[in-house]
Amino acid sequence: MARIVMKFGGTSVADLDRIHNVARHVKREVDAGHEVAVVVSAMSGKTNELVGWVHGMPKATGANSPFYDAREYDAIVASGEQVTSGLLAIALQSMGINARSWQGWQIPIKTDNAHGAARIMDINGEEIIRRMGEGQVAVVAGFQGLGPDNRIATLGRGGSDTSAVAIAAGVKADRCDIYTDVDGVYTTDPRIEPKARRLKKIAFEEMLEMASLGAKVLQVRSVELAMVHKVRTFVRSSFEDPDAPGMGDLLNPPGTLICDEEEIVEQEVVTGIAYAKDEAQISLRRVADRPGVSAAIFGPLAEAHINVDMIVQNISEDGSKTDMTFTVPSGDVEKALKVLEAAKAQVGFDVIQHETGLVKVSVIGIGMRSHAGVAASAFRALAEKGINIKAITTSEIKISILIDGPYAELAVRTLHSVYGLDKK
Ligand code: ASP
Ligand code: MG
Repeated sequence: MARIVMKFGGTSVADLDRIHNVARHVKREVDAGHEVAVVVSAMSGKTNELVGWVHGMPKATGANSPFYDAREYDAIVASGEQVTSGLLAIALQSMGINARSWQGWQIPIKTDNAHGAARIMDINGEEIIRRMGEGQVAVVAGFQGLGPDNRIATLGRGGSDTSAVAIAAGVKADRCDIYTDVDGVYTTDPRIEPKARRLKKIAFEEMLEMASLGAKVLQVRSVELAMVHKVRTFVRSSFEDPDAPGMGDLLNPPGTLICDEEEIVEQEVVTGIAYAKDEAQISLRRVADRPGVSAAIFGPLAEAHINVDMIVQNISEDGSKTDMTFTVPSGDVEKALKVLEAAKAQVGFDVIQHETGLVKVSVIGIGMRSHAGVAASAFRALAEKGINIKAITTSEIKISILIDGPYAELAVRTLHSVYGLDKK
C-alpha cells in the first residue's frame, strides 16, 4: 500500500465527462488499496473568465494593485477550484468511493499575506491522514489557502501544482502524481523537435531549470517545493484510458518522475534543451569601472520589479570604463530603459543600446558537473549552422546561449542532436 496525491489540471477536469474520467483514475488507485488525496484545478478557461470579470469591474480610486483589491480578487478567482472539488467528490461518491471536498481554509493550508501570489507557509495534514486511514478520499481545491488575515489567498497562476506538492509533503505521500494534458517531460519541446523523447526520470534541479526556461509543464514553485521536501513528483497524462495496462503500476507507470538525483542511475551528460522566447538585451556603453556601479544599475531595476537574467561585464581596457550587457524580458524593455535613464547620473554611462526579439537556448544536465567539453560542443555545433552567439552564461548544470529569435528552432534541434538526445 502506498500513499498517493493525485493532481488534475484544468484540461483534465474541463467538463463533466472529463471529471468522470478523472474519478476513474482515482478509483483505480483506491481499488489497488492505496491511500489517496486528490487536488484539482478549475475547469480549463474558468480562472481566465473569473480574472476577466474582476478586470471588468470599475477600479476604486487609489487602488494601485493590478488585481484591484487583491483580497477580493482572490475571493473571486479561488471559486473555480471550489466547483471542481465538489463535482469530483460527487463523481467519486457515485462510484461508491467515500470522498469529500476540502477548501484551502478547511485543512488549513496557511499562506503568507501576498494575495494573488501567496506562498504556502504551513499545512496541517493530520485530519486528512486520519481520514485516509478510514478509507476516505480528500478532494482538495488547488490554488488556494488561508492568509494570516483569515481570508482566502491564491497561489499565482498555475498554483494548483504547488498545492498538490505541498499536500503531498503535508501528508507524507510516497508520490505526487501530476496528471496533465501531456504525458511527461520531454528532452525538448516536441513541437520544435519531433524526435524529442519522454524522459523516464529527471532530477529536481534539472526540472527547475527546464520549468523556469519555458518547459511549461509545472509551476516553478511546485518544483522548488518538491525539491526542498523531496517529494517524488510524477508527470503523466490524464487522457489515457484509466484502466489501460500499466497505468496503476506503482514503480513504473507511464510518465516522467521528477526525483532526487541519487535515484537516477543512468545519468546522461545532457538531459534536455530548453528555450525562452522574447528576451531583450540591453547594453550600457562606457560605464565607469568602479565599486558600486553594478549596484547602481541593478538596484533600481530590481526595485522596478524587472527581472534581469544574463549579465555580462567586459574587462575594461584601461581600468576606467567598461561595457555592461544584460537581458530582460522583451515586455520590460521600455520600463528598464526609463529606469536606467533616471539612474544615468549615478551610473555614468555614455549610451544605452538595446535589441528585442532574442531567444535564450539552454543545455541542461547534472551530468555536466563531471564532464568537460559540454559547452565547447554546443558552440561548435551552432557555429557550423552559422548561428551567432550574443551572450553566454553558465552554471554547474546549465549553459545558456542568447541568439537571434529566427534561429531558435534551428538551435534547439541542433543542440538536441549534438548531445545524442535524438537517439532511442
Ligand atoms: N486555476 C488556476 C490557474 O489557472 C490554478 C491552476 O490551474 O493551477 O491558474
Ligand atoms: Mg497547470
